[in-house]
Amino acid sequence: ALHTISGFDRIGEENAFAVLARANALASEGKDIINLGIGQPDFPTPEHIVEAAVKALRDGQHGYTAATGIPQLRAAVCADLQHRLSVDVSPERVLIVPGGKVTMFLAIMMFGEPGAEILYPDPGFPIYRSMIEFTGATPVPIPIREENNFAFSAEETLSLINGRTRLIIVNSPANPCGGVTPRKEIDRLVAGLTEWPDLAVMSDEIYGQMTYGETEHVSLLGYPEIADRLIYLDGWSKTYAMTGWRMGYSVWPELLFDKARKMAVNSWSCVNAPAQWAALAALTGPQDCVAEMVSAFDRRRKVVVAGLNDLPGVSCIEPQGAFYAFPNIKETGFKAKALASALLEDAGVAVIGGPDFGVLGEGYIRLSYANSEANIVTALSRIGDFLREHS
Ligand code: PLP
Repeated sequence: ALHTISGFDRIGEENAFAVLARANALASEGKDIINLGIGQPDFPTPEHIVEAAVKALRDGQHGYTAATGIPQLRAAVCADLQHRLSVDVSPERVLIVPGGKVTMFLAIMMFGEPGAEILYPDPGFPIYRSMIEFTGATPVPIPIREENNFAFSAEETLSLINGRTRLIIVNSPANPCGGVTPRKEIDRLVAGLTEWPDLAVMSDEIYGQMTYGETEHVSLLGYPEIADRLIYLDGWSKTYAMTGWRMGYSVWPELLFDKARKMAVNSWSCVNAPAQWAALAALTGPQDCVAEMVSAFDRRRKVVVAGLNDLPGVSCIEPQGAFYAFPNIKETGFKAKALASALLEDAGVAVIGGPDFGVLGEGYIRLSYANSEANIVTALSRIGDFLREHS
């Protein structure tokens, strides 16, 4: 038999893609499926961004770019960070990567090895744990609890750090729970981290522009005391409805940048050139498209939360960010994955079972409300019918 390195026996995946494939297969058989499974905006990419890619293609942007990304885009990322977060970042620390996921891949590869411990949120984005296991490092879950509004608890997080901890992964606003960690918790976390100067931090802020009501997004980039060991993850997928374009970026500490750059040279060479010009148009063009999408998500969020709380055996706290609701379904009597699968097969609604995001996800399902209000209302009524029939 072919022999592969052991990491490939341990690597996991993101079940949302399997659910997407199953939902598409059912739809192609003629079933009426509403997809609240995969996490992507239902809006098309704004027209001026698409046009910038078309223009780049027509203008002959067909070759390799610098491995780090076109300079205009790295500069625009810095201007955007200055504008949104009031932080000064040098373009020399910005790496353009093919999708948000790539930053976590690089960061976890850099710090993961047998004997090392990496802290990650549970429930959390499934790729964190999968990649940690790939490297042979020990995954140490940081519990994300409903009773704490699905925010990180600084105290609980800090209590998990020891001399073997090499990297800690923070995600706010968060997938899958929609929690946003408040400033006082982030302040306490950063203060606690000063006692562990050799510990790297990766902050996944891909939903940073998606907070609702009075909720503020607090970026770890705003804390100079950890700038020498912070890896900041962001990208265009969610903010500009560009999931299929594969555009992301990271901000690296000066000491790590060149290692990350070399990984780019060794693997993808550079990110798709026309897509980089499109991403530049996204950052430098009008931003009302972002505000419009976020306010649409906010309206749908209210519809989904109210609807879920009317269902038998279901309760849902109001998510403060991203575009996911993470209702507690413990009183329905169903196991989460069984419920998710039955809803897809019998009720025509794709959702994701909480255990796909970690052990603390049992008893919950994730619904993406990046879908039309009409679809959300129909999906909720189908889920309601299903639960009443099976109670
Ligand atoms: N980080 C989180 C928390 C996400 O939810 C996602 C996508 O679902 C990503 C990163 C990856 O985004 P991309 O599609 O740009 O790789």
